[in-house]
Amino acid sequence: MSARQQDEVEIAIVGAGAAGLVAALALAQDGRKVALVGPASAPRDGRTVALLDASWRLLDELGLMAALADKAAPLSTMRIVDDTGSLFRQPPVEFRASEVGLEAFGWNVENAELVAALAARAQDSGAVRMVPALVSSIAAEDGGVTLSGEGLAPLRARLVVGADGRRSQVRAAAGIAARDWSYPQVALTAICSHRRDHRDASTEFHTRAGPCTLVPLPGRRSSLVWMLAPAEADAVAALDDAAFARRVETQTHSTLGALTLDGPRGRAPMAGLSVERFAAGRMALIGEAAHVFPPIGAQGLNLGLRDVAALREALRGQDDPGSDDAMTVYDAARQSDVRLRTGAVDALNRTLLTDLMPADLLRGAGLLALSRIGPLRRFVMRQGLAGGTR
Ligand SMILES: Cc1cc2nc3c(=O)[nH]c(=O)nc-3n(C[C@H](O)[C@H](O)[C@H](O)COP(=O)(O)OP(=O)(O)OC[C@H]3O[C@@H](n4cnc5c(N)ncnc54)[C@H](O)[C@@H]3O)c2cc1C
Repeated sequence: MSARQQDEVEIAIVGAGAAGLVAALALAQDGRKVALVGPASAPRDGRTVALLDASWRLLDELGLMAALADKAAPLSTMRIVDDTGSLFRQPPVEFRASEVGLEAFGWNVENAELVAALAARAQDSGAVRMVPALVSSIAAEDGGVTLSGEGLAPLRARLVVGADGRRSQVRAAAGIAARDWSYPQVALTAICSHRRDHRDASTEFHTRAGPCTLVPLPGRRSSLVWMLAPAEADAVAALDDAAFARRVETQTHSTLGALTLDGPRGRAPMAGLSVERFAAGRMALIGEAAHVFPPIGAQGLNLGLRDVAALREALRGQDDPGSDDAMTVYDAARQSDVRLRTGAVDALNRTLLTDLMPADLLRGAGLLALSRIGPLRRFVMRQGLAGGTR
């Protein structure tokens, strides 16, 4: 084999976060010759990802269950509590997976554990060429794209998949326009141990600064995502672990009893990003390279895994994975799902941030309708789960 042949692959994926790793495993399973470029690790910062049923089935198909089964907790009930103090405050709304014929809406797992399990699977499978280097140059030429960087000899691919997160270099190299914005919110994350059983239920307290949510993990543990105004987030983040845990307990009305922290905490400023197109010139975007929004309703990575499913579908039967035809099909397949989710999460988040009466009334009426009207509640649940990954 010549040196040039050694440095060619069909598909090079840039970014070994959860989206890039899943794409690499899935496309290799479809028989593609795949390289995954990027360091495969995620910080332990208390962030978990609740993966909906369809995402979980995709991970199962990729052989991840043995590694993840005891690290994830089922999410069987989702409870929303209006804690805004609005005049139109409604009683809590509960969504039960059993109402739509499912054992669980999904499973919640630490993001760092998920990335470690995916990286081990990719490594052990031998089907993915893993290159733990950062890409610094992306050059599109006739019939291919060449990547290079420190520790990365030029690597040519017929398709480059940008899974390189919100500041995606692949997106810039493809000339894909993106609009980004920020919210006056910061999410604090942590893993908490607690005295009471969570009974596989998440509880989302909707406050004026955003939701404060406890999501079940195995045992008497839950993950916290608490959205606050930046100054308040800084003040809470500065507390020591014991004082922080007491604040969380107060904020969540002691719903799970006394809390202690179990591991490092994190802090993520809230932002949004939306792209004009999902592919251009032999480059396709997946995950946060293509869409970012606040963590409300467990949509972010689930949407990223639906990108992977759509890309697989677009490449099926294509000799050339970067062909105009494949890229057009992929772009068309992602437009409505991504825009719908980005718009819905943005709208819900903004109704929380305003204390204007019409927004409060609308939200109150919405929650009341959800708690009283079974078919509407089931419709909303199916929409939340919609767009299965296969
Ligand atoms: C607090 C919080 C809670 C969340 N909860 C949920 C949830 O419950 N459910 C859900 O579905 N989603 C959730 N999300 C969203 C979810 O975490 C993200 O959508 C997901 O982690 C993004 O994964 P990614 O692989 O697209 O991006 P990233 O994790 O950002 O990975 C990008 C990767 O690209 C690499 N990279 C960047 N540049 C280069 C380069 N030049 N060369 C090589 N590599 C490069 C980086 O090192 C990184 O590994 C949450 C988000 C937050 C902030």
